[in-house]
Amino acid sequence: MDRPLSRAAFERAQRSVASGVNSPVRSFRAVGTSPLVVSRGKGACLYDSDGNRYVDHILSWGAIILGHADQDVQRAVEQTTARGTGFGLCTEPETDLAELIKQAIPSIELLRLVNSGTEAVMSAVRLARGYTGRSKILIFEGCYHGHSDSFLARAGSGLATFGIPGSGGVPPSVVAETLVAQFNDLQSVEAICGKCGEQLACILVEPVAGNMGVIPPAPGFLEGLRRMADRCGALLVFDEVITGFRIAWGGAQELYGVHADLTTLGKIIGGGLPVGAFGGRRDIMEKLAPLGNVYQAGTLAGNPVVTSAGSAALRKLARTRPYETLERRAARLCDAIGRAARDYAVPMRVNRVGSMFTCFFTADEVTDYDSAQRCDTQRFGKFFRHMLDAGVLLPPSQFEACFLSAAHSDEDIAKTVRAAEDALACL
Ligand code: PMP
Repeated sequence: MDRPLSRAAFERAQRSVASGVNSPVRSFRAVGTSPLVVSRGKGACLYDSDGNRYVDHILSWGAIILGHADQDVQRAVEQTTARGTGFGLCTEPETDLAELIKQAIPSIELLRLVNSGTEAVMSAVRLARGYTGRSKILIFEGCYHGHSDSFLARAGSGLATFGIPGSGGVPPSVVAETLVAQFNDLQSVEAICGKCGEQLACILVEPVAGNMGVIPPAPGFLEGLRRMADRCGALLVFDEVITGFRIAWGGAQELYGVHADLTTLGKIIGGGLPVGAFGGRRDIMEKLAPLGNVYQAGTLAGNPVVTSAGSAALRKLARTRPYETLERRAARLCDAIGRAARDYAVPMRVNRVGSMFTCFFTADEVTDYDSAQRCDTQRFGKFFRHMLDAGVLLPPSQFEACFLSAAHSDEDIAKTVRAAEDALACL
């Protein structure tokens, strides 16, 4: 598929925007091709500047669960912007969204709205530290919690994609408080808790890892984390920025029946607009200023346009409950790709939870960061380029999650399957 206008648009961007992108994985560097420049989206599809149409499995990195340009979300944005775009003061749409979130995730008694997932996790961790009076945090190799300093130790997403162990500009003293365990390995958690459990403010985890590719929690893993957090007097923080409203209405906490003390959210709750949220137990949340002494704030936090869009999306999800359909369709899609890989003798493992999945180019099970890193990323790059040429857009990295939306029809799925079969036949 030819993309001369996308290429020209990217060249123009590079003259003004650092590396031509406002977020690294958009560069498509890891898959050896020039990036797509998007002009519009509708339902399950995206169109680039050249007018090429793609079945979209990035879906704004999981935010777009209803499909692009959903009418309800669009209407909410139009109606709200007609009254002004933001005031930096209290508005009712903020409370509407907060109530919807509380209904879905009962462990959230109080919450705060912010502008991104990064901000949500950064604030939740500050609160965990303020509440417990402790400074260390425990995270998991290959998980990603946004780009704030404390979390950039052996993280996933763009860092996994580009093989970056940490980030320049992060003082060693900051990451010295960050302890890193292995996902799905309770012994590695126990070892850290045994050594410095009394200094741990929180255990922070993606309950389903999505940023080293999709890795489900092993049976008992989340329960084990709950137990160990309780034993150490640390808080358990679930980063549900991807999983919230994605794998179930009540996110991972509903699906696995394990409750967090604090939860972070983003993506879906903004209906595609910039958003984040963190919330949890009342006694913890009341430590936030102005009631408490943990400071957190935001000029644009809870913006009425964003929160109206988010509420419209959540109301539609509550009304239509697409989760069973998503489960069935995603299972069919993943089964078909797995079958094609076997037919063409391409070593592949497909991991999936609900409508998030990753096709890992490896013969072995993928259960943690090490096993994910053993994938053949060159082969993934070839697969990606074949799919793109066939009009199917995957995330441009082996270490990201693919998504389905409620707008993906059987035909869209059939197109992805056909493209994958052709691509696998050529590998
Ligand atoms: N946590 C998780 C689990 C994420 O997947 C992401 C982003 N993909 C973030 C936090 C950071 O969110 P944002 O990019 O909105 O800052």
